[in-house]
Amino acid sequence: MRNLLSGLRLQKENPTFLVAQYKALSSQIPVLYILLVINALAVAITHIHTAPMWLALYVPVGLSVLCVFRIVWWQIHGQDCISGDRAYRVMRRTIVLAGVLTFAFGAWAVALYQYGNAYQQGQVAYFLVVTGISCVLCLMHLPAAALLTTAITFSFMVVTFMFSGNSVFVATATSVIFLSFPFIRVINSYFQNFAGLVRLTKELGDKQTEAERLNLINSRNALQDQLTGLANRRSFFRELQDLLQQRPEEPPIIGLVDLDGFKPVNDVFGHAAGDLVLKQTAERFVALMGGKGTIARLGGDEFGVIFPSDLSRSCVSEMGQAFCAALREPYDVPGGSIRISGSCGIVVPEGGGHTAEQLYEKADFALYQVKSRRNGSVEFFSHDLEEILQQRHLIELELQSDNFARELSLEYQPIIDLDDGHVVGFEALARWNSARLGRVSPDAFIPAAERTAMIGKMTRILFAEALKALSIMPPPLRMSFNLSARDICDHETSMALLGMIHGAKIDPRRIEFEITETALLSDFDTAYEVIGLLRAAGITIALDDFGTGFSSLSHVHRLEFDKIKIDKSFVMQFDRDVRCMNITRSVANLCRNLGIASVAEGVESLAIAEALHAFGVRLAQGYHFSRPLRLHDAIAFAEASETGVEARRLASA
Ligand code: C2E
Ligand code: CA
Ligand code: CA
Repeated sequence: MRNLLSGLRLQKENPTFLVAQYKALSSQIPVLYILLVINALAVAITHIHTAPMWLALYVPVGLSVLCVFRIVWWQIHGQDCISGDRAYRVMRRTIVLAGVLTFAFGAWAVALYQYGNAYQQGQVAYFLVVTGISCVLCLMHLPAAALLTTAITFSFMVVTFMFSGNSVFVATATSVIFLSFPFIRVINSYFQNFAGLVRLTKELGDKQTEAERLNLINSRNALQDQLTGLANRRSFFRELQDLLQQRPEEPPIIGLVDLDGFKPVNDVFGHAAGDLVLKQTAERFVALMGGKGTIARLGGDEFGVIFPSDLSRSCVSEMGQAFCAALREPYDVPGGSIRISGSCGIVVPEGGGHTAEQLYEKADFALYQVKSRRNGSVEFFSHDLEEILQQRHLIELELQSDNFARELSLEYQPIIDLDDGHVVGFEALARWNSARLGRVSPDAFIPAAERTAMIGKMTRILFAEALKALSIMPPPLRMSFNLSARDICDHETSMALLGMIHGAKIDPRRIEFEITETALLSDFDTAYEVIGLLRAAGITIALDDFGTGFSSLSHVHRLEFDKIKIDKSFVMQFDRDVRCMNITRSVANLCRNLGIASVAEGVESLAIAEALHAFGVRLAQGYHFSRPLRLHDAIAFAEASETGVEARRLASA
């Protein structure tokens, strides 16, 4: 009952439901009017000779004209996209009209009743009940109108026939009274089903809208860098690929911008400050792009640029400079103001047939060049760089060949004790004599091996050879062996090396591993663990090329290196450049103060060797003493040095 009462009310607060009611009625109401008009005219025709003309003809025709107007109205407006408010107004009008028309037709039928014979009266009864029920069925979506129609029709019927004096009519009226209860129930349950369906449809619609919204967010996230709001790496490459596909003959100019000095910001000021720097950088870049082209954050502190297609090479260069200049502007972060810099590598592709990866590699290579000069400027990918890059590819390809392992060998450069000139050990230096490429410098093939993940295999091959050499070198001669950044950040390789030492029955104290600072920068924690393991086994660790990388005293302090190798770039120029001499002296002093041994490499003259000795540097290697030697020459060199030392000792005695 409560359901029925609530169904009678128009739900003004639920516009979706009102619109659904309107739509449902729009297809039913024209049918209702057509039925009504046909049935009314049928009654009118049979009464045309028995009832007065105004009643038999004019009234039903007048009412029918009104119905036709309503049919036309619903035909025109039934499919309109309407608001909840308008649906409300239309339905209120429909309820009123339902009441008025039902009353009018009912009263007309009852008025005709007195003029007809028994058959005609039966027709009137049929008209009232059957037409009434048909109309109610058409109004089921609007219970107020349906019930009003039921009430009026049934009332006319019951009142007229109850007092007709005809027992058949009285019986019919009585059954109509009983019929009205289940009929009202049917109306109610139909309406409740309809309401449930509308609710369900709305819920489904809402869920679909929500799913579409989430989908949109997901696809936006998949293409957007969350921190800066810029396009991300995937989006950058997708756009680049699209552009290359659309206009293969006019490939876009692309650039890569990389921040210099960003890592220390994170280390010193924390990640929140680092995030702020990246966000502000993105804002500066977006402003410089002026809404044209694409700027993306490719990851970490690397940004990618697809320059607008109408920019000339010189404009692109200016823009690259502007990016670098923008990076040099101070950044405000909690705790202070930060200054960093950045470099930009650009590729202006010539001709067609480029892939996104190739363009990226070229821009990256140009960036690498400018970063290695560390001057925070712009570098274009040139023909010279193209040649170097091709050579790099050749080397990478040859590294994969079966011959590579056989073509590898070691040379040994003596390390001298400056106190008396005797050889304390050797540094093992990799050599590759390729059948196709000739002699390839380790400075070229070791980075290539690192890039192609061949380094672990190569290190094992060379280390096996170094151990073999050490096994025939008389103790206490020692061997220094270079490990790459990848080796020192890889538990598997370091474990394999320890296993090899054990297998070769070599005293680990005769072995020294040389590692560079770049190794520490890539993954300090793993490097720290691995170094700890190696030192625990008795191996000594030297920090190679000290002064060339991002030297950090905290690294030296935390990792407790056994030795520091002063880079040859300082030592070699030592007698020509005061700055180099000062650096060398400072490093020597630092080592003495920290109680760490120092080794000077790149000693090319006696004068330098003597000066180093005066600075307190005890160990040295360099062309002045010997170039790297084949194994047997190295052993002979060590023996000769022993003899020389002995002779000098005897002479001085
Ligand atoms: P490094 O460890 O700094 O090695 C010293 C480099 O300086 C060697 O170059 C050596 O030949 C050169 N050198 C020695 N004395 C002098 C001198 O008086 N003057 C000059 N101008 N140069 C001198 P090399 O053999 O070309 O090696 C280059 C680099 O390749 C090495 O630098 C090292 O970083 C890397 N490397 C060499 N062998 C291996 C290896 O087996 N494994 C790994 N991971 N890296 C290696
Ligand atoms: Ca070295
Ligand atoms: Ca070195």
